[in-house]
Order: sequence, then structure tokens, then C-alpha cells
Amino acid sequence: MATKWVYMFSEGDATMRNLLGGKGANLAEMTKIGLPVPQGFTVTTEACTQYYEDGRQINDEIMAQVMEAMSKMEEITGKKFGDKENPLLVSVRSGARASMPGMMDTILNLGLNEEVVETMAAKSGNPRWAWDCYRRFIQMFSDVVMEVGKKYFEALIDEMKAKKGVSADTELDADDLKELASQFKAEYKNKLGEDFPTDPKLQLVEAIKAVFRSWDNPRANVYRRDNDIPYSWGTAVNVQMMAFGNMGETSGSGVAFTRDPATGENKFYAEVLMNAQGEDVVAGIRTPMEFDELKNIGMTDIHDELLNIANILEDHYRDMQDMEFTIENHKLYMLQCRNGKRTAKAALKIANDLVKEGKITKEKAVSMIDPRNLDSLLHGSFSKESLKNAVQIGKGLPAAPGAACGKVVFTAEDAKAQGAAGEKVVLVRLETSPEDIEGMKAAQGILTARGGMTSHAAVVARGMGACCVAGCSAIVMDEENKTFSLGGHTYKEGDIISFDGSTGNIYDGALPVQDGSIEDEDFKTIMEWADEIRTLKVRTNADTPADARKAVELGAEGIGLVRTEHMFFEGNRIDAFREMICSDTKEEREEALEKILPLQQGDFEGIYEAMEGRPVTIRFLDPPLHEFVPTEEEDFEKLAKAKGKTVEEIKVLCEGLHEFNPMMGHRGVRLAASYPEIAVMQTKAVIRAAIKVNQAHPDWNVVPEIMIPLVSKVHELKFVKQYVVETADAEIAAAGIDMKYSVGTMIEIPRACVMADKIAKYAEFFCFGTNDLTQMTYGFSRDDSGKFLQDYYDKKIMENDPFAKLDQEGVGELIKLAVKKGHEMRPEIHCGICGEHGGDPSSVEFCHSIGLDYVSCSPFRVPIARLAAAQAALKD
Ligand code: PEP
Ligand code: MG
Repeated sequence: MATKWVYMFSEGDATMRNLLGGKGANLAEMTKIGLPVPQGFTVTTEACTQYYEDGRQINDEIMAQVMEAMSKMEEITGKKFGDKENPLLVSVRSGARASMPGMMDTILNLGLNEEVVETMAAKSGNPRWAWDCYRRFIQMFSDVVMEVGKKYFEALIDEMKAKKGVSADTELDADDLKELASQFKAEYKNKLGEDFPTDPKLQLVEAIKAVFRSWDNPRANVYRRDNDIPYSWGTAVNVQMMAFGNMGETSGSGVAFTRDPATGENKFYAEVLMNAQGEDVVAGIRTPMEFDELKNIGMTDIHDELLNIANILEDHYRDMQDMEFTIENHKLYMLQCRNGKRTAKAALKIANDLVKEGKITKEKAVSMIDPRNLDSLLHGSFSKESLKNAVQIGKGLPAAPGAACGKVVFTAEDAKAQGAAGEKVVLVRLETSPEDIEGMKAAQGILTARGGMTSHAAVVARGMGACCVAGCSAIVMDEENKTFSLGGHTYKEGDIISFDGSTGNIYDGALPVQDGSIEDEDFKTIMEWADEIRTLKVRTNADTPADARKAVELGAEGIGLVRTEHMFFEGNRIDAFREMICSDTKEEREEALEKILPLQQGDFEGIYEAMEGRPVTIRFLDPPLHEFVPTEEEDFEKLAKAKGKTVEEIKVLCEGLHEFNPMMGHRGVRLAASYPEIAVMQTKAVIRAAIKVNQAHPDWNVVPEIMIPLVSKVHELKFVKQYVVETADAEIAAAGIDMKYSVGTMIEIPRACVMADKIAKYAEFFCFGTNDLTQMTYGFSRDDSGKFLQDYYDKKIMENDPFAKLDQEGVGELIKLAVKKGHEMRPEIHCGICGEHGGDPSSVEFCHSIGLDYVSCSPFRVPIARLAAAQAALKD
């Protein structure tokens, strides 16, 4: 059978969302339950995909079905397209599977031409309305379909209003609007060299094409990436008979919510704008009146009817509904309903209240909250209101959520000093390094010109819950003179900017930040339900006791990754660390390690204490050396003094550490293989700390998990493990106790996945380091891929950043292979993931589906992972 590309509203229902889009499916559903919906049809999302496959053409088969649906619509409505007696006008609107408010295009009043408008003016006795429709149509068609004239049209309206001495467009009369229509058409011809199309069928075809085309417009592409909506879904197009809200004072347009979308309060809310079409309400041209005022203008019946419909719809969909309606000559029409967009706070309250009201189950409540939405609850955010007038100057990667606003500083020292003096500052850097850590802490947020989603700034900021926008390559940086340029502005120290770590958007000037909080009963309840449902455990990546405590507060069940090199970011610890890496003899190194040992042991004790007996996986040193070698003259001098060498000697040593590709350099297990004394020192620290904490808390039973990073060959693990085991056993024996510990490995090199059975012989657990695994599977640099990923998005080579959202078909297959091989060799092996993907909802779902035991993510993403894991379990 030939493909069905077009469905009348009467042929569909709410279950057909994938094919009809959200709007189309809900229009069909409202039709089915007998609500007053102006009739029409939906061109499917598959037709959109076909349009792109056919080289942006609507093929004959789709066209024929559109025309057939048009005839059916004429029969149903008793009106005719382009008719002089009883003309049919339609709206043409987009509607994807997932709602994308304001991202795509809408055209109203289609079907008008010079003759039809005259008929409408004469027959209705309301020429003002007829000409108002026509000028709106020319305006929208030109803007959306032909992409011309928007600004010019607005200027013409302003000129006309000035000429007439009026301020509202409702004050323009029929003749003014007629005059505007002819000015608009002249502008159209002027820009395109042809007359404005008069044939309604041609208008319709062009409008459908324009909606399909709008699926690929830049703002829709950005929205999709931010909201994890695949490009392949396409948008449907809804063609619907017009209901006119601009027919006079007994007509109007409005929007309504069954509950408050900001707070979640169970209170119906609606706004109506009389004598207006839908886009006027959205555009905020005039201030709408409150819903109850309908009663004061003789429309109590409409008021009651809408309230009744709102109840029917909420009961039907069992979720808060957002509706659009039109009143045409005192008759109500429903134009749209959908599950309303809401703040995180409202989402939690609504879900919880619906359970209390007996309308939904706990499982449904857990499944209806978008885990990514929790970000705004845990972190600060900009209010929708303030963003309306914000001037965006650029966009980087949304590296760590939150909202930052403050005075620009260019160095970590300035951030620290000014932060301590009570200033709100934002740290703007080319890229960050471990030395910046304290400045990063003192700043409201971090903005970098370089680096990807797993770059130093991103990982560290996420760990500490700070806002970070990374890799904004449009920034032209002059660190020396403390200025940078972006979006046509040049900023110097002290100038104020704002940025949003959840979207990557950067704004000029100050925007008010609203704080986040987890002190919310609804949040607690929903998270408890999520924990009852999920089977996947959630651990955290934490390097300090403070991070560990925060993570426990947010529900972490253990630590999946302590990056021990991160422990050297604080204070002057980096000095000892540099002394260690800049050693040229074993003795020198051991001397430096002796200084480090008590610091590490103290750190581990603090972390075990914070975790109160929960499992803790400690990863042995894995420093990409370039992040740690000194670059500043004074640091060279300091190091030289500490090591009793000359600055020149130190520089030569550091130069010797230079690597062309440090991410693939002398790090991880390779470092321990070259210098086993490092592994010995770390083992002592891990075991001594555990012995001490277990003695202090006999009821806890800490079983340290030692993790060796970056293994590619089983021999590497075997070699280093022998030092670990020897040292650990000796420490335990010396303490005269019986304490268990385990040794496992990170799997973060493709070769390790392929050889996982051999590796599992020596590894009691696997933890997938998907940051490096992604880097090495793709061969994309973690730090630099941002530079070309935008080209890949634009060219549809890739849809998402693989460092943020796990590439399931490539990297994921390698993980699956490793899990399978690991279990073949060691059935009881436990497997987790600790790359940044551990806090990404779709990646968490994947981890659940392939049977991992846990995901581990930064503290502030723990609730997101808990919720995503529960939702994954509900999909089984
Ligand atoms: C990884 O590679 O995924 C990982 C967690 O380790 P790091 O980011 O420290 O390299
Ligand atoms: Mg790694």
C-alpha cells in the first residue's frame, strides 16, 4: 500500500505522536473527545523526512494527498479555498514530536488574495477585520516563506501609526490596513522581483515547504541539541481552518495553563487578548486581560466552557496542559493543547500533587520529569523574564550548569583577591589549568575560549558545582592586556557579563541570578520514589571530602572515581607534586613522594570519613603532564630552590617532560610502570587511611578499591598490580589486622575493550573512562574537538558532542564487548562508568540497558543520574 502522508484530524489520536507530531496528535485527540477544534489535517513527520531526502522538494505523491485532504476539508467546513462566495482560510503550523516552542514557523490567514479579501470585507460587514487579516498574512508569508521584509514591515506599521497619531495597531482603521497591505506587497515585489502569490494552492505548497524548511533553521538546530531531540524526527505540518480572534470586541485569542507553570500551584491561569490573533498574545504587543475579566464583558459562558475544557483535558492527559484558544464572535475554539513547559520546581510539585490527587502512579510521576530540568533546581539560573531583554553576545559549550554574572577578571589571582573582597567576578581564560583552581572557586563562573566538555575547566567546574561555559572559540583573547572581544563588543577587566552554563549562552551586562536549592519536599519525595524504582547504582566522582559530603547529601551511594592528581590543585600542594614529576632520579622522586604520602593519606581519610563506609574507588595518578608542569618564571624559581637545582636545570627537566600529545602521553599506568614507587606510595596512603578509619569506626568496614588507569595491555596491569598487592599486604600484615581491598582497572582505551577477558584475569572491577574512551575511539582530542564539532553540526555529520552524550553505536559497542568479555573471565566482576557521560540521562539509560552496576558522576549530577536510572528501569 502506498504510504499515507496526510491524516485528517478525525483520523488520528494521541498515540500517533511520532507520526503526527505533538500538536497534530493532540488536535486529533481533542477532535476525538468532541472538543470544539477547527478541522484540518496533518502532513506527517515522515513527509518532512521525505522532503529532505528528495532534496528539499515535496514529491507528487505527498502533494496529491495534501490536495485530497484540502478537498475533504472544504467538504467538512462547507467553505472553499480561494472562493469568492465563502472562502476558506487556514493556518499552517509546525509540530514536532517534542514541543519546541517558538523554534519553527507559523503562517495564519493563508488563502487570501485581493479578490477574497474584498469578498470577506463585504460579506462580513467588517472590512477592518478583512484587511487586518490580509496585511498579517502578507507579513507572515513574506517573513516565513520568502524570508524578506520583517523589519521593513514593522517599520511601515510604525510609520502608519505615527501618521495617524495612534499607538496601538487596533486603532488603525480599514483604510489604513488596506494601505499597509499594498505597501507590503510593493515591498515584496521590490525584494523578490515578482508579485505576491495570489493562488491559494500555491501559497499552501510554499507554506508547507517553509515549515519543513524551518526544521533546519539555526535556532531549531541549537534547541534540538540543547534538548536532545534527534534531527531525524522531522516536523509535521498542521493545516487548520482559521478561527478569527480579530473579528472585533466579541473575538479574541488566548493561552491557558491548567496549573501554574512557574510554581506548579493547582490554579488555572489564562490570558486573553480581545480583537487579536494568536501571535499578538505571544509577541506581547498589548497587555492581555486576566481570564476572569471575561465575565465582565458578557462572556461568562465562554469563561465556564474554557474552564470545563481545561478540566477535561487535564483529566484526559493526566498532566498539566498548556492550551491555545480563540474566541470568534463569541464562540470558543481550541487550537492546541500540550503538556505544558514548566520550571523544575513546578514539575516536581505537579507530579507529586497528581499522585496525591490519585490521578497518576508514583512510577508515572517519576517518568514525567525531565532529569536535565533538575539542573536549574540545584544551580542558580536566570529568570525567563530577564532573558527576554538580554543581549546575547556569544555561545560556548554548556560545560557546567548554573548562571553566572559578575565583573570580568582574567587571572585566578585576581578572581581570588576580588572574590575575597566580596566582589562578584567571572573568570575569563583562554583555558584553565590546575593552578587556577582557587580562582575558579572564588568566581561566580568560568568562561574559556578553548577546551571541550571534558576539558580541565569543565571537569573541575562540574565537580565543584560551579557554572562554566567552555570552548567559546569566537572569543578573541588578549590576556596580556586583559581584554577580550566577543559579539562585536570588547570587554576589559571590571566590565560585567553574564553566562548560562546550561545553554552555553553568553550575555552582555548584568542579569539577575536566582539561587538553586534542594530544600524542597517535592524533590525529596520524587527522588525517594526514583530510588525505589532504579536498579542501577549511582556513585560520584569526588576528589575532596567536601565534594564527597555534597554528593552523599545529593544521594550518592559511593565514589566511583577519586582523581588523585586533582588533590594537588589546592594551596601549595602543587609544589610537592611538581617536585615529584620533575625528578630525574628515583631517590629524588622518593624524597618528593615522602612529602606527598601524608597529604594523600589525610585526603583519603577525609574522603572515607565523608562516605561513612560506602564504597570508594581511588584511581592512581593519571596526570596529563602538561596540566602540571610550571609555566611561570616564579614557579620555575620556586621549584629550582626546592630541588637545589638551577632554574636552567629545571627548565631543561620540564622541557624533557614536554609531549606532543600529552593526552596520549606518559600518564596513567605508564607513569606507574616507569616509576613503581608512585604506585607504592599511593597504595600505602590508601591502605593506611582505610585501616585508620576502620579502627575509628568498627561498624563501617571500608574496603578500598584501587583503580589503575589507562591500561591497554594486560602486562601493564599485571606489572603494577604486583607492587600494589605486595605493599598493601605488607601494610595490612604490619597492622596485624584482616582487611579486604580490591584492585581493578579503568577501561578507557579501545584495545582494553577488545582484550577485556585477559585484563579481567587481574582486575576485580572495571570502570569505563568514557572521556578517554571516546577520545581514543573517535581519535578526537577531548580538549580541542569543540573547534570543528560546530562544523560537524552545521553539516549534519554529527548531532551531538560525543564527550557529553555517549556515542552508543561506536563507543557503546566497545563497552558492551568489554562487559561481556569481562564477565566471561570473571563472572562476579562489577562494572561501572565514571566518564562525564555518567551524568547524562540518555547515557545513563544505555548503562542500565547493558547491565552496568553503577554510573559515577559529579556531585551535582547525582540526582539527575538517579532519576534517569529510574526512568530507564521503567522502560524495561
Ligand atoms: C575518563 O577518561 O573517562 C576518566 C574518567 O578519566 P579522566 O577524565 O580523568 O581522564
Ligand atoms: Mg581518563
